[in-house]
Amino acid sequence: VWNNCLSFIKDNIQPQAYKTWFEPILAVKLSDRALSIQVPSKFFYEWLEEHYVKILKVALTKELGEQAKLVYIIKMENTYGNKQPFTEKIPSTNRGAVKSQDVDIPLKNKNPELKNPFVIPGIRNVKIESQLNPNYNFENFLEGDSNRLARNAGIAVANKPGGTSFNPLLIFGGVGLGKTHLAHAIGIDIKDKYPEKTVLYISAEKFTQQYIDSVKKNNRNDFIHFYQIIDVLIIDDVQFLSGKSGTQDVFFHIFNHLHQNGKQVILTSDKAPVDMQDIEQRLLSRFKWGLSAELQSPDFETRVSILKNKLYRDGVEMHDDIIEYVAKHIKTNVRELEGAIISLIAQSSFNKKEITVNLAKDVVEKFVKNTKREVSIDYIQKVVSDYFQMDVNTLQSKTRKRHIVQARQLAMFFAKKFTKASLASIGSQIGKRDHATVLHACKTVDNLSSTDKQFRKYVEDLSKKLSI
Ligand code: ADP
Ligand code: MG
Repeated sequence: VWNNCLSFIKDNIQPQAYKTWFEPILAVKLSDRALSIQVPSKFFYEWLEEHYVKILKVALTKELGEQAKLVYIIKMENTYGNKQPFTEKIPSTNRGAVKSQDVDIPLKNKNPELKNPFVIPGIRNVKIESQLNPNYNFENFLEGDSNRLARNAGIAVANKPGGTSFNPLLIFGGVGLGKTHLAHAIGIDIKDKYPEKTVLYISAEKFTQQYIDSVKKNNRNDFIHFYQIIDVLIIDDVQFLSGKSGTQDVFFHIFNHLHQNGKQVILTSDKAPVDMQDIEQRLLSRFKWGLSAELQSPDFETRVSILKNKLYRDGVEMHDDIIEYVAKHIKTNVRELEGAIISLIAQSSFNKKEITVNLAKDVVEKFVKNTKREVSIDYIQKVVSDYFQMDVNTLQSKTRKRHIVQARQLAMFFAKKFTKASLASIGSQIGKRDHATVLHACKTVDNLSSTDKQFRKYVEDLSKKLSI
C-alpha cells in the first residue's frame, strides 16, 4: 500500500522534496484502514502535516478508500544536537532511539516486531546539525599579535582536519577573548571545504547535560556512538568538565576513538591545561597531545580594527577619535569592547544625541563601572544579603544558623562563579574563612540545587540579580 502511495507522491512532487521527506519514512503497520508510518522526528511530522497532508490524503484514499487513516509514529527526538535560533532546522535522521511516541491514534509500542524498523543501518548517512553560528567566521575574526598563533593554527586545522599535528587543537584564554568565535570559524571553514564531513559544535555544559540524560534514560551507549561518528568535534569551555568525573570518563573514550580514527578534536578552555583543576590526569595529558594556543588581550591596533569591522558590518558610522577613545579605555576583553560600542550607539539613538567624545566618555565610564560591579565580591555579598534580608555582617558572622550558613555558602558559590578570585581570597573576603570552606560551600550549593527545589529557586533568583 505504502509503495503505491509513494509512487503516486513521487510523480507529483519535486524529486528533491520526495527524497528529503518521503524516502526516510518507514511503513510500519497496516491494520484495518489505518496505515502507520514512522518518521524520524517530531519536526519531520510537523513538516509533513503542514506541507504534504493533502497529497498524503489523496494517495491514501486512492489505496484504502474514504476511511483511510494515517498514524504517525515518531522516533524519540534526538537530543544530541540542540537547536539554536541561528541554525536552520534540518530534519536529522535520528538513530539509536528505540522508543516511539505516537501521534493521533495511540498505538502502544509493545510489539517487538515494531522495534526493528528503528534500527537504521549505514550510520554514515546520518545528518547532524553542526550548530555553527555563521557570523562567527574567519573573515570576522580579526588578526592581531594577541591571536595570531591560535588563528593560524585554526586555519591549518580547517585546511586539513585531522591531518595536522594540532590534534586536539586547544584554544585557551580569558573571557571574551574570542575562543567561541574562533572555534566556530574553524568549524564553518571545514564545512565549506569538506561538506561531506560531519562537524559538531557543542558546549561542554550541554555535552554534560546530554550525558546525564543518556544515563538516566539508559542509553549511554547511544550517546557514545553518536559522538563517535563525528568527523570534527568542537567542545567549548572544557573547564566546565572539572569535577565531573563521569562526563570526563565518557569524553575520554570518545576522544580516544576519534583521535585514533584521525578525526579532529577542537577544544576551548578558559585556562591552560597546566592550570586546570579537577580534571583527570589522563584527560589533561590528551589535551596536551596537540597544540595549545592562547588568545591574549588584543593590543590597541587590533581593538580599533575589531571595532571598525563591527561598525562596518552594522552599517554604523563613527568618528575615528571616538573609536579610538573606546579602544583606548576598554582593554581587557573584546566582548566588553563590543558592548561599549553597542551601548554608545544605543545611547545616541535613544537620546537623539550626536556621538561626541564626551558621550563616549560617559558611556565608557559607566560601562567600566558596571563590569567592575559585576565581578566584585563585595557586590555579591550585598546582593545575597539583601535577598535574604540580612546585613552583610550577619552573612559574614560565625553563626551556624542554617539560613545564614546557606546565604554565606551562596555568596561563596557566586564569588567563585562570577569572579576570578581564588578560593582562598574568596574565603578571606567572606568572613575570613579558608579555601576548604569555600570549596565545601560550592559543592554544597551544587548538591542542594539539584535536590532541593526551594534552594534551586534561590540560585536562579540570585543568578538573575547578579548578571546584568
Ligand atoms: P570567549 O568565548 O573567549 O569568551 P567570544 O568568542 O564569545 O569569547 O568573543 C566575544 C565577542 O568578541 C564575540 O562577539 C566575538 O565575535 C568578539 N571577538 C573576539 N575576538 C575577536 C576578533 N579577533 N575579531 C573580531 N571579533 C572578536
Ligand atoms: Mg565562549
